Amino acid sequence: MREFSVPENIKILKNEPLSRHSSIKTGGPAAAAAFPKTIQALIHLVRLANERGVRYLVSGNATNLLFDDRGFDGLVIFTGGLRGVTWSAGGVTADCGVSLTALARDAAAHGLSGLEFAYGIPGTVGGAVYMNAGAYGSEIADILLSSDYLRGDDVLTRGYCAHEFTYRSSIYRKTGDIVIRAVFTLFPGDPAEIRARAKTYMNARREKQPLEYPNAGSIFKRPPGAYAGALIEEAGLKGLRQGGAEVSEKHAGFIVNRGGATTEDVLRLMETVREAVFKKTGILLEPEVIRVPY
Ligand SMILES: Cc1cc2nc3c(=O)[nH]c(=O)nc-3n(C[C@H](O)[C@H](O)[C@H](O)COP(=O)(O)OP(=O)(O)OC[C@H]3O[C@@H](n4cnc5c(N)ncnc54)[C@H](O)[C@@H]3O)c2cc1C
Repeated sequence: MREFSVPENIKILKNEPLSRHSSIKTGGPAAAAAFPKTIQALIHLVRLANERGVRYLVSGNATNLLFDDRGFDGLVIFTGGLRGVTWSAGGVTADCGVSLTALARDAAAHGLSGLEFAYGIPGTVGGAVYMNAGAYGSEIADILLSSDYLRGDDVLTRGYCAHEFTYRSSIYRKTGDIVIRAVFTLFPGDPAEIRARAKTYMNARREKQPLEYPNAGSIFKRPPGAYAGALIEEAGLKGLRQGGAEVSEKHAGFIVNRGGATTEDVLRLMETVREAVFKKTGILLEPEVIRVPY
């Protein structure tokens, strides 16, 4: 990566192991990792990277990413320090680095309903808009009003219809623009009832998901008319291991890091699972996790 200096108030770490930041705890070092604390700093970093021809990737909490074992030959910008939130009677505007789970919890405290499904999704607002994150029959597309995004030096606004939301996807997957903040429409409700609904979802997660081991959430997308986890379980693959990676015994839709797993282990295990499920059912599972090349 070409050298470039940044203002002292932006934290930059060189040769930063990405396994420290990814939820599945795999991935080699990034040539540089930046942790902006303001939107201005984020815009500044992106401008510098563009000017110097430095390759960059924006990540929220890296809960849906598989970083290469060699790392990332460029700059990874982690948005977790961008946490501005403004509440109104009909919703909330949240910066891209805001934790979805924290936002869902605070929405309940504000007596606003609509984000309950997101309580327990460990990503950020930016990652959730990009992925159209969803659970328990709801998704970001149900509540998003608009988002502000960075293209070049300009911060532009995209209305709901222009997001082209589909299952676990949005226009951002095509354009690569950076989500700066998002506006969500929420509905007034009783705080205790909202909290209770959110808790029910969280309890279901704790009961069904292997949260005791590092993982990247559902490894495969839900195929039409079926559940990836059920197909994998029916193929007898629970507990299958490759190096330190294992098809979770608790929920076959998850691959967990049982200790010392590499991204290569995870990818190989995914391939074995795909082949086995395809042979048995004719269904080809499509990865939900995003692989980040070196
Ligand atoms: C235990 C567990 C449970 C999970 N449960 C669910 C679930 O129920 N439903 C669900 O949908 N997902 C779930 N996930 C997956 C993941 O949390 C979501 O996809 C989440 O939206 C990703 O957010 P993130 O901030 O971690 O994004 P990252 O993993 O950091 O990034 C994901 C993608 O978004 C892009 N991105 C991130 N921020 C921005 C930005 N500001 N602008 C533009 N692009 C950006 C990245 O470049 C990358 O391509 C789960 C994961 C785990 C580990």
